[in-house]
Amino acid sequence: MAPQRDWYTTDYYKTLGVSDKATEKELRRAYRKLAKEFHPDSHPGSEERFKEISAAYDVLGDPEKRKEYDEVRRLGPLSGLGGFGGSGGPGQGGFNFRIDDLSDIFGGLFGRGSRAGSRSAPGSGPRRGRDLEAELHLSFQEAVDGAITTVNVTSGARCSTCGGSGSRPGTVPVVCQRCNGLGVLNDNQGMFSLSSPCPDCQGRGTRIVDACPSCGGSGLEQRQRQVKVRIPAGVESGQRIRVKGRGEPGANGGPGGDLYVIVHVAPHPLFGRKGRSLTLTVPITFPEATLGAAITVPSLNGPVTLKVPPGTRQNQTFRVKGRGITSGSSTGDLLVTVDVVVPAELTDDQRKAVEALAKTLHGSPREHLGV
Ligand SMILES: [Zn+2]
Ligand SMILES: [Zn+2]
Repeated sequence: MAPQRDWYTTDYYKTLGVSDKATEKELRRAYRKLAKEFHPDSHPGSEERFKEISAAYDVLGDPEKRKEYDEVRRLGPLSGLGGFGGSGGPGQGGFNFRIDDLSDIFGGLFGRGSRAGSRSAPGSGPRRGRDLEAELHLSFQEAVDGAITTVNVTSGARCSTCGGSGSRPGTVPVVCQRCNGLGVLNDNQGMFSLSSPCPDCQGRGTRIVDACPSCGGSGLEQRQRQVKVRIPAGVESGQRIRVKGRGEPGANGGPGGDLYVIVHVAPHPLFGRKGRSLTLTVPITFPEATLGAAITVPSLNGPVTLKVPPGTRQNQTFRVKGRGITSGSSTGDLLVTVDVVVPAELTDDQRKAVEALAKTLHGSPREHLGV
Protein backbone atom coordinates (compact mmCIF):
# COMPACT_ATOMS: atom_id res chain seq x y z
CA MET A 1 0.00 0.00 0.00
CA ALA A 2 1.27 3.44 -0.86
CA PRO A 3 0.47 5.54 2.18
CA GLN A 4 0.88 8.80 0.35
CA ARG A 5 -2.11 8.03 -1.77
CA ASP A 6 -4.20 7.54 1.34
CA TRP A 7 -3.33 11.04 2.42
CA TYR A 8 -5.84 12.33 -0.08
CA THR A 9 -8.65 10.08 0.97
CA THR A 10 -8.17 9.48 4.67
CA ASP A 11 -8.74 11.93 7.47
CA TYR A 12 -6.16 10.81 10.00
CA TYR A 13 -7.31 13.41 12.48
CA LYS A 14 -10.76 11.90 12.38
CA THR A 15 -9.27 8.43 12.79
CA LEU A 16 -7.59 9.53 16.00
CA GLY A 17 -10.60 11.61 17.06
CA VAL A 18 -8.66 14.85 17.43
CA SER A 19 -8.89 18.27 15.80
CA ASP A 20 -6.35 19.26 13.19
CA LYS A 21 -5.02 21.80 15.68
CA ALA A 22 -4.14 19.09 18.18
CA THR A 23 -0.76 19.33 19.84
CA GLU A 24 1.80 16.54 19.66
CA LYS A 25 0.95 15.61 23.20
CA GLU A 26 -2.78 15.41 22.49
CA LEU A 27 -2.10 13.27 19.45
CA ARG A 28 0.07 10.89 21.41
CA ARG A 29 -2.52 10.59 24.14
CA ALA A 30 -5.31 9.92 21.67
CA TYR A 31 -3.20 7.36 19.84
CA ARG A 32 -2.23 5.46 22.99
CA LYS A 33 -5.78 5.32 24.19
CA LEU A 34 -7.10 3.99 20.88
CA ALA A 35 -4.20 1.61 20.33
CA LYS A 36 -4.93 0.06 23.68
CA GLU A 37 -8.65 -0.08 23.02
CA PHE A 38 -8.28 -1.78 19.64
CA HIS A 39 -5.16 -3.85 20.10
CA PRO A 40 -5.86 -7.08 18.16
CA ASP A 41 -4.12 -9.24 20.77
CA SER A 42 -6.72 -8.38 23.35
CA HIS A 43 -9.59 -7.56 20.97
CA PRO A 44 -9.81 -10.08 18.15
CA GLY A 45 -11.45 -8.71 15.05
CA SER A 46 -10.18 -5.19 15.58
CA GLU A 47 -7.17 -5.63 13.27
CA GLU A 48 -8.52 -3.29 10.63
CA ARG A 49 -9.26 -0.52 13.08
CA PHE A 50 -5.89 -0.98 14.77
CA LYS A 51 -4.16 -0.70 11.41
CA GLU A 52 -6.00 2.52 10.62
CA ILE A 53 -5.03 3.96 13.97
CA SER A 54 -1.38 2.97 13.51
CA ALA A 55 -1.33 4.38 10.00
CA ALA A 56 -2.81 7.65 11.23
CA TYR A 57 -0.26 8.00 13.99
CA ASP A 58 2.58 6.99 11.69
CA VAL A 59 1.88 10.20 9.83
CA LEU A 60 0.56 12.59 12.45
CA GLY A 61 3.03 11.46 15.12
CA ASP A 62 5.93 12.65 13.01
CA PRO A 63 6.01 16.48 12.79
CA GLU A 64 7.73 16.39 9.37
CA LYS A 65 5.21 13.96 7.92
CA ARG A 66 2.35 15.77 9.54
CA LYS A 67 3.38 19.03 7.87
CA GLU A 68 3.43 17.35 4.49
CA TYR A 69 0.12 15.66 5.18
CA ASP A 70 -1.45 18.99 6.13
CA GLU A 71 -0.17 20.46 2.87
CA VAL A 72 -1.59 17.60 0.86
CA ARG A 73 -4.93 18.07 2.56
CA ARG A 74 -4.90 21.76 1.81
CA LEU A 75 -4.58 20.83 -1.83
CA GLY A 76 -7.97 19.25 -1.69
CA PRO A 77 -9.44 15.92 -2.69
CA LEU A 78 -7.93 13.50 -5.14
CA SER A 79 -9.83 14.98 -8.06
CA GLY A 80 -7.68 18.07 -7.67
CA LEU A 81 -4.99 16.09 -9.42
CA GLY A 82 -7.12 15.55 -12.49
CA GLY A 83 -5.35 18.30 -14.31
CA PHE A 84 -1.92 16.92 -13.73
CA GLY A 85 0.45 18.50 -16.21
CA GLY A 86 -2.11 21.11 -17.12
CA SER A 87 -3.96 23.78 -15.28
CA GLY A 88 -4.94 23.16 -11.70
CA GLY A 89 -2.10 20.72 -11.32
CA PRO A 90 -0.14 20.34 -8.13
CA GLY A 91 2.43 22.79 -9.38
CA GLN A 92 -0.02 25.56 -8.63
CA GLY A 93 -0.88 24.30 -5.21
CA GLY A 94 1.87 26.37 -3.75
CA PHE A 95 3.34 23.60 -1.66
CA ASN A 96 6.86 22.34 -1.89
CA PHE A 97 7.60 18.67 -1.70
CA ARG A 98 11.02 17.27 -1.93
CA ILE A 99 11.43 15.51 -5.24
CA ASP A 100 11.37 11.99 -3.82
CA ASP A 101 8.17 12.69 -1.97
CA LEU A 102 6.58 13.85 -5.15
CA SER A 103 7.63 10.77 -7.05
CA ASP A 104 6.38 8.68 -4.17
CA ILE A 105 2.98 10.24 -4.52
CA PHE A 106 2.77 9.82 -8.23
CA GLY A 107 4.42 6.44 -8.19
CA GLY A 108 1.78 5.45 -5.72
CA LEU A 109 -1.07 6.96 -7.65
CA PHE A 110 -0.19 5.59 -11.01
CA GLY A 111 1.13 2.37 -9.63
CA ARG A 112 -2.23 1.77 -8.01
CA GLY A 113 -4.12 2.44 -11.17
CA SER A 114 -2.37 -0.21 -13.17
CA ARG A 115 -2.00 -2.48 -10.26
CA ALA A 116 -5.49 -3.80 -9.79
CA GLY A 117 -4.92 -6.75 -12.12
CA SER A 118 -1.62 -7.72 -10.65
CA ARG A 119 -2.73 -7.89 -7.03
CA SER A 120 -1.81 -11.56 -6.87
CA ALA A 121 1.65 -11.05 -8.32
CA PRO A 122 4.16 -13.47 -6.79
CA GLY A 123 5.19 -12.48 -3.31
CA SER A 124 3.04 -9.40 -3.19
CA GLY A 125 -0.23 -8.76 -1.47
CA PRO A 126 -1.55 -10.04 1.84
CA ARG A 127 -0.34 -13.37 3.13
CA ARG A 128 -2.19 -15.48 5.67
CA GLY A 129 -0.31 -16.44 8.83
CA ARG A 130 0.45 -20.08 9.59
CA ASP A 131 -1.82 -22.28 11.67
CA LEU A 132 -0.45 -23.06 15.11
CA GLU A 133 -1.11 -25.75 17.69
CA ALA A 134 -1.23 -25.48 21.44
CA GLU A 135 -1.84 -28.09 24.13
CA LEU A 136 -4.35 -27.59 26.88
CA HIS A 137 -4.72 -29.74 29.99
CA LEU A 138 -8.10 -29.81 31.66
CA SER A 139 -9.48 -31.51 34.72
CA PHE A 140 -12.29 -34.00 34.15
CA GLN A 141 -14.80 -31.56 35.59
CA GLU A 142 -13.60 -28.63 33.44
CA ALA A 143 -14.01 -30.79 30.34
CA VAL A 144 -17.54 -31.67 31.43
CA ASP A 145 -18.55 -28.11 32.33
CA GLY A 146 -16.66 -26.27 29.62
CA ALA A 147 -14.35 -23.42 30.52
CA ILE A 148 -12.96 -20.12 29.42
CA THR A 149 -9.25 -20.34 29.81
CA THR A 150 -6.04 -19.00 28.32
CA VAL A 151 -3.34 -20.86 26.47
CA ASN A 152 0.20 -19.66 25.97
CA VAL A 153 1.29 -19.48 22.36
CA THR A 154 4.80 -18.59 21.28
CA SER A 155 5.01 -17.48 17.70
CA GLY A 156 5.93 -14.69 15.44
CA ALA A 157 3.61 -11.95 16.65
CA ARG A 158 3.00 -8.48 15.36
CA CYS A 159 5.97 -6.41 16.50
CA SER A 160 4.94 -4.34 19.49
CA THR A 161 7.26 -1.49 18.61
CA CYS A 162 6.04 -0.81 15.07
CA GLY A 163 2.63 -2.47 15.20
CA GLY A 164 3.70 -4.84 12.42
CA SER A 165 4.50 -2.22 9.79
CA GLY A 166 8.22 -2.94 9.93
CA SER A 167 8.96 0.79 9.82
CA ARG A 168 10.48 2.75 12.66
CA PRO A 169 7.55 4.34 14.52
CA GLY A 170 6.84 7.75 13.03
CA THR A 171 8.10 6.76 9.59
CA VAL A 172 6.23 5.19 6.70
CA PRO A 173 7.35 2.94 3.89
CA VAL A 174 7.81 4.54 0.48
CA VAL A 175 6.71 3.24 -2.87
CA CYS A 176 9.41 1.08 -4.39
CA GLN A 177 11.16 3.10 -7.11
CA ARG A 178 12.31 0.11 -9.06
CA CYS A 179 8.87 -1.39 -9.69
CA ASN A 180 6.80 1.75 -9.16
CA GLY A 181 4.79 0.00 -6.53
CA LEU A 182 3.78 -2.90 -8.76
CA GLY A 183 5.77 -5.47 -6.85
CA VAL A 184 6.77 -7.10 -10.13
CA LEU A 185 9.21 -6.29 -12.88
CA ASN A 186 8.09 -6.82 -16.44
CA ASP A 187 10.83 -7.82 -18.76
CA ASN A 188 9.88 -7.55 -22.40
CA GLN A 189 12.04 -9.82 -24.51
CA GLY A 190 10.76 -9.75 -28.01
CA MET A 191 7.62 -11.82 -28.07
CA PHE A 192 7.82 -12.78 -24.44
CA SER A 193 6.92 -10.70 -21.48
CA LEU A 194 8.30 -12.11 -18.28
CA SER A 195 7.34 -10.78 -14.90
CA SER A 196 9.24 -11.56 -11.76
CA PRO A 197 8.91 -10.32 -8.18
CA CYS A 198 10.75 -7.08 -7.64
CA PRO A 199 14.02 -7.88 -5.82
CA ASP A 200 14.18 -4.45 -4.20
CA CYS A 201 10.91 -4.75 -2.32
CA GLN A 202 10.40 -8.54 -2.37
CA GLY A 203 7.19 -7.99 -4.27
CA ARG A 204 5.55 -5.77 -1.64
CA GLY A 205 5.56 -2.67 -3.80
CA THR A 206 6.79 -0.57 -0.91
CA ARG A 207 10.17 -0.26 0.69
CA ILE A 208 10.93 0.37 4.30
CA VAL A 209 13.23 3.34 4.53
CA ASP A 210 13.87 3.33 8.22
CA ALA A 211 13.53 -0.17 9.64
CA CYS A 212 11.98 -0.70 13.05
CA PRO A 213 14.84 -1.24 15.50
CA SER A 214 13.03 -4.07 17.32
CA CYS A 215 12.17 -6.36 14.42
CA GLY A 216 14.61 -5.17 11.78
CA GLY A 217 11.74 -4.49 9.38
CA SER A 218 10.06 -7.89 9.43
CA GLY A 219 7.11 -6.58 11.46
CA LEU A 220 7.23 -9.75 13.56
CA GLU A 221 8.77 -10.67 16.86
CA GLN A 222 8.90 -13.98 18.72
CA ARG A 223 6.59 -13.46 21.61
CA GLN A 224 4.60 -15.46 24.06
CA ARG A 225 0.97 -14.51 23.84
CA GLN A 226 -1.94 -15.55 25.92
CA VAL A 227 -4.92 -16.49 23.83
CA LYS A 228 -8.29 -16.71 25.47
CA VAL A 229 -10.08 -19.91 24.49
CA ARG A 230 -13.66 -20.89 25.09
CA ILE A 231 -13.82 -24.64 25.71
CA PRO A 232 -17.29 -26.01 24.98
CA ALA A 233 -18.89 -28.26 27.58
CA GLY A 234 -18.32 -31.96 27.02
CA VAL A 235 -14.95 -31.90 25.23
CA GLU A 236 -12.96 -35.10 25.12
CA SER A 237 -9.27 -35.87 25.28
CA GLY A 238 -7.63 -35.55 21.89
CA GLN A 239 -10.23 -33.14 20.53
CA ARG A 240 -8.92 -30.15 18.58
CA ILE A 241 -10.59 -26.80 19.07
CA ARG A 242 -10.15 -24.23 16.35
CA VAL A 243 -9.68 -20.62 17.36
CA LYS A 244 -10.07 -18.69 14.18
CA GLY A 245 -7.44 -16.09 13.32
CA ARG A 246 -5.39 -16.50 16.50
CA GLY A 247 -2.49 -18.41 14.95
CA GLU A 248 0.48 -16.65 13.47
CA PRO A 249 -0.38 -13.13 12.32
CA GLY A 250 -0.60 -12.57 8.58
CA ALA A 251 1.83 -10.49 6.58
CA ASN A 252 1.06 -7.40 4.47
CA GLY A 253 -2.35 -7.07 6.06
CA GLY A 254 -3.29 -10.73 5.48
CA PRO A 255 -5.45 -12.58 7.98
CA GLY A 256 -3.96 -14.49 10.88
CA GLY A 257 -3.73 -18.27 10.76
CA ASP A 258 -5.87 -20.38 13.02
CA LEU A 259 -4.92 -21.71 16.40
CA TYR A 260 -5.74 -25.36 17.11
CA VAL A 261 -5.99 -26.18 20.78
CA ILE A 262 -5.46 -29.88 21.51
CA VAL A 263 -7.32 -30.89 24.63
CA HIS A 264 -6.00 -33.35 27.21
CA VAL A 265 -8.46 -34.35 29.91
CA ALA A 266 -7.23 -35.74 33.22
CA PRO A 267 -8.88 -39.01 34.34
CA HIS A 268 -11.49 -38.95 37.09
CA PRO A 269 -10.92 -41.15 40.15
CA LEU A 270 -14.39 -42.72 39.79
CA PHE A 271 -15.90 -41.99 36.42
CA GLY A 272 -14.88 -42.96 32.94
CA ARG A 273 -16.20 -41.65 29.63
CA LYS A 274 -17.58 -43.10 26.44
CA GLY A 275 -18.55 -40.13 24.34
CA ARG A 276 -21.40 -38.45 26.17
CA SER A 277 -21.88 -41.42 28.48
CA LEU A 278 -20.37 -41.46 31.89
CA THR A 279 -19.21 -44.89 33.07
CA LEU A 280 -18.97 -46.14 36.64
CA THR A 281 -18.24 -49.53 38.22
CA VAL A 282 -20.17 -50.25 41.43
CA PRO A 283 -19.58 -53.21 43.74
CA ILE A 284 -22.73 -55.00 44.98
CA THR A 285 -23.05 -57.89 47.42
CA PHE A 286 -24.12 -61.41 46.47
CA PRO A 287 -27.49 -61.00 48.27
CA GLU A 288 -28.07 -57.65 46.48
CA ALA A 289 -27.33 -59.32 43.15
CA THR A 290 -29.54 -62.30 43.95
CA LEU A 291 -32.43 -60.62 45.72
CA GLY A 292 -32.33 -57.25 43.97
CA ALA A 293 -31.79 -53.91 45.75
CA ALA A 294 -32.08 -50.16 45.45
CA ILE A 295 -28.54 -48.85 45.71
CA THR A 296 -27.23 -45.27 45.84
CA VAL A 297 -24.54 -44.40 43.31
CA PRO A 298 -22.69 -41.14 42.67
CA SER A 299 -23.20 -39.07 39.55
CA LEU A 300 -21.60 -35.77 38.49
CA ASN A 301 -24.59 -33.89 39.84
CA GLY A 302 -25.27 -35.67 43.10
CA PRO A 303 -26.20 -39.20 44.17
CA VAL A 304 -28.87 -41.17 42.29
CA THR A 305 -30.78 -44.33 43.20
CA LEU A 306 -30.36 -47.34 40.94
CA LYS A 307 -32.66 -50.36 41.15
CA VAL A 308 -30.70 -53.56 40.73
CA PRO A 309 -33.18 -56.29 39.76
CA PRO A 310 -33.16 -59.75 41.37
CA GLY A 311 -30.83 -62.14 39.56
CA THR A 312 -28.29 -59.52 38.48
CA ARG A 313 -25.13 -61.01 37.01
CA GLN A 314 -21.53 -59.91 37.32
CA ASN A 315 -20.58 -57.08 34.89
CA GLN A 316 -24.17 -56.37 33.96
CA THR A 317 -24.57 -52.70 32.97
CA PHE A 318 -27.51 -50.48 33.86
CA ARG A 319 -28.39 -47.17 32.32
CA VAL A 320 -29.39 -44.13 34.38
CA LYS A 321 -30.91 -41.83 31.78
CA GLY A 322 -29.76 -38.23 31.46
CA ARG A 323 -27.00 -38.43 34.08
CA GLY A 324 -24.14 -38.37 31.59
CA ILE A 325 -22.32 -35.50 29.92
CA THR A 326 -24.05 -32.65 28.17
CA SER A 327 -22.49 -31.63 24.91
CA GLY A 328 -24.31 -29.39 22.52
CA SER A 329 -28.02 -29.95 22.93
CA SER A 330 -27.95 -33.56 24.09
CA THR A 331 -27.07 -35.26 27.34
CA GLY A 332 -25.69 -38.76 27.70
CA ASP A 333 -26.48 -41.41 30.30
CA LEU A 334 -24.71 -42.81 33.33
CA LEU A 335 -23.72 -46.43 32.63
CA VAL A 336 -23.34 -48.38 35.86
CA THR A 337 -21.55 -51.72 35.66
CA VAL A 338 -21.92 -53.95 38.72
CA ASP A 339 -19.12 -55.92 40.29
CA VAL A 340 -20.53 -58.70 42.44
CA VAL A 341 -18.36 -59.01 45.51
CA VAL A 342 -17.69 -62.55 46.68
CA PRO A 343 -16.68 -62.69 50.36
CA ALA A 344 -13.15 -64.02 50.77
CA GLU A 345 -13.78 -65.37 54.24
CA LEU A 346 -16.94 -66.65 55.90
CA THR A 347 -17.90 -67.13 59.52
CA ASP A 348 -19.30 -70.53 60.52
CA ASP A 349 -22.85 -69.19 60.41
CA GLN A 350 -22.33 -67.72 56.97
CA ARG A 351 -20.81 -70.95 55.67
CA LYS A 352 -23.82 -72.91 56.97
CA ALA A 353 -26.22 -70.46 55.29
CA VAL A 354 -24.45 -70.76 51.90
CA GLU A 355 -24.32 -74.56 52.24
CA ALA A 356 -28.06 -74.58 52.95
CA LEU A 357 -28.58 -72.52 49.80
CA ALA A 358 -26.36 -74.86 47.75
CA LYS A 359 -28.48 -77.88 48.79
CA THR A 360 -31.56 -76.26 47.24
CA LEU A 361 -29.89 -75.52 43.88
CA HIS A 362 -30.42 -78.33 41.38
CA GLY A 363 -28.61 -79.01 38.16
CA SER A 364 -25.24 -77.70 37.00
CA PRO A 365 -24.57 -74.38 35.21
CA ARG A 366 -21.94 -76.28 33.15
CA GLU A 367 -24.30 -78.85 31.68
CA HIS A 368 -23.97 -77.39 28.17
CA LEU A 369 -20.22 -78.04 28.16
CA GLY A 370 -20.93 -81.78 27.90
CA VAL A 371 -18.36 -82.92 30.44
ZN1 LIG B 1 8.94 -3.69 14.50
ZN1 LIG C 1 9.74 -3.05 -6.00
